[in-house]
Amino acid sequence: MTATIAKIIWLIGGLAWFALRFTPRERSRKTPVHYSGRGTREYALLAASLTGLGIMPFVYVVAHFPRFADYPLNPVQAYLGIAVEVCCLWLFYRSHHDLGHNWSVSLDLRERHTLVTTGVYARVRHPMYAGFWLMAFGQVLLLPNWVAGPAGLIGFGILFFGRVAREEAMMITAFGDEYRAYMRRTARVVPWLY
Ligand code: SAH
Repeated sequence: MTATIAKIIWLIGGLAWFALRFTPRERSRKTPVHYSGRGTREYALLAASLTGLGIMPFVYVVAHFPRFADYPLNPVQAYLGIAVEVCCLWLFYRSHHDLGHNWSVSLDLRERHTLVTTGVYARVRHPMYAGFWLMAFGQVLLLPNWVAGPAGLIGFGILFFGRVAREEAMMITAFGDEYRAYMRRTARVVPWLY
C-alpha cells in the first residue's frame, strides 16, 4: 500500500459515490418541490461541504497540493480507510433507496412527501449524513496530508451543524407529532449515542 494507491482508492470511492447518487437524484427530481428552505445560507453550507469533501482532496490527488503538509502513510490507516469507504457507500446506497423520491440536496419538501422511518431510518434520523461523516473519516485515513485529509471533516461539519437543527424543525413543521415521536425513538447519526 502506497500513498498513490490510497489516493486512487479515494478517487474510485468518489466516482462510486457519484454513480450511486446519479439515478436516485434524477428520479427524485421528477417530483416537484412544494416547500424550499433554500437561501444564501444553505448555498454557503453546500459550498463549504463541496470544498472540503470534493475540491480540496481532488486538488491534492491530481496536483499534489499542498505538498508541504504530507506525512508518511501508515498502511494500516489506508486499509481502515478502505473499510470506512465501503461502509460509507453501503449507507449511501441504502439511505437513497429508503428515502426514495423524498431526497433532496438541500432543505426541500416535495409534493406527496412522506416521512420515512424504516430501513436505515429506523434507528437514526440522518443516515445519509452519517454516510458523509464516514466519507470524511475515509478521506482522513486515505489521504496522508494534514490539510487535504481533514478538510472533509471541517467542510461537512460546517454543513451538518449548520443544517441539521433547521432540517429537523422543517420536518416538525411538516409532520408535527409524528416527527416528534420519531425523534424520541431515534438518534441523529450514531444509533443510541447521538
Ligand atoms: N437528513 C437525512 C436526509 C438527507 S436528504 C439523512 O441524512 O438521511 C435531505 C432531505 O431529506 C430534506 O430536505 C428532507 O426533506 C428530507 N428528509 C429528511 N429526513 C427525512 C425522513 N425521515 N423522511 C422523509 N424525508 C426526509
